[in-house]
Amino acid sequence: MLQISGLTYRYPNATDIQLSVPAFSLDKGEHAIIIGPSGCGKSTLLHLLAAILSPQQGKVHVAGVDLRTLSPRVADAWRGSTVGFLPQKLALVPSLTVGENLLVAAYANGRTADAGRAGDVLRALGLGEKINAKPHQLSQGQQQRVAIARALFNRPALLLADEPTANLDDDACAAVIDLLKAQARDNGASLVIATHDARVLTALPAAKVLRLERLARETA
Ligand code: ADP
Repeated sequence: MLQISGLTYRYPNATDIQLSVPAFSLDKGEHAIIIGPSGCGKSTLLHLLAAILSPQQGKVHVAGVDLRTLSPRVADAWRGSTVGFLPQKLALVPSLTVGENLLVAAYANGRTADAGRAGDVLRALGLGEKINAKPHQLSQGQQQRVAIARALFNRPALLLADEPTANLDDDACAAVIDLLKAQARDNGASLVIATHDARVLTALPAAKVLRLERLARETA
């Protein structure tokens, strides 16, 4: 489902390479944890897997597609149909209801606004009662579940989560990892979690682990 080889990425305005991954692969339905200290390139790698960024060197294949061959426009369509992204900053639209937040994201991804699907996904996450609530009326944990529902709306083959356990206590950490695992399984998705939180390794013992180190910087 996912193959990486010889991958490097440098931001256009940067002098150093920010990310280097010699090789990594993941089968359909498997879990992966990308772990390493802050600034080592975890978010950058998630953005490469979602074809938001394109690498200068190396291969990234996801679900049979060579992401380097996609034009920006085709990449947008591919992402909308293949990838679910749970960002660290949830970015729910405060003026819209929970249900509308899902539908507007689906619309932005080129999908029809299927209100039935929104209700189904929210119910699966225990949020059926909250479909007409505004995000500020929900707890932080409920808002995160809305963002998980939004990521799952398009039945993605690949679910990417960026630091989903940041600022959570141990119980909430275990609960959110269990939830991501169950939702990935129920939706037939592979799951990739980027984190600096070692508790995620314990919560997902069968996951493949990709450890990133902070790359040496050139001195001025
Ligand atoms: P992590 O998610 O592991 O904290 P990031 O992927 O956010 O790491 O960042 C990796 C490196 O790339 C850091 O040195 C960071 O400062 C740098 N970086 C991140 N985003 C940009 C950007 N848009 N432009 C230039 N450098 C960036």
